[in-house]
Amino acid sequence: MRFLCDHMLGTLAKWLRFLGNDVVYPGPIEDDELKATVEREARVLLTRDRELSGRVAGSVYVASDDLNEQLVQVVRAFRLPANLAMTRCSVCNAPLREVPKADAQGKVPEGVFERQREFWRCDTCGRMYWQGSHWANMSARMQTILSKSSLNEPPRDSISKA
Ligand SMILES: [Zn+2]
Repeated sequence: MRFLCDHMLGTLAKWLRFLGNDVVYPGPIEDDELKATVEREARVLLTRDRELSGRVAGSVYVASDDLNEQLVQVVRAFRLPANLAMTRCSVCNAPLREVPKADAQGKVPEGVFERQREFWRCDTCGRMYWQGSHWANMSARMQTILSKSSLNEPPRDSISKA
């Protein structure tokens, strides 16, 4: 899915990227500019601003300021796959590219290089990725969030029809 997170939702933007989504996070810009970007790039606006959400068709008003609740809301509303994917840079949203292990030498901590077999690189910002303990912790957290949230609660009808 293609999203635009408003400037209140930076952490959510990173998590949605880790779930394989294309998420732009422009920081504080004027509402009109936000609306124009959403329309031009065919994105879904995720916003903490109820009034703005009412003005942008297909947008989602994110009610909670709790990350877990935000993730549940968005994953359910769009039936997103809840598995982490090594496809997008969490920092700049550029696509990741799997690189041969030899290419990671000297670019990641030595212990990581020894333990990991697979590496990915963001060609835009140069950041390296691997599925280390942080990855495992995020996966576990995602599963916990979703299992807790699945208790007989229907998906919230939260997509603005404006
Ligand atoms: Zn990057």
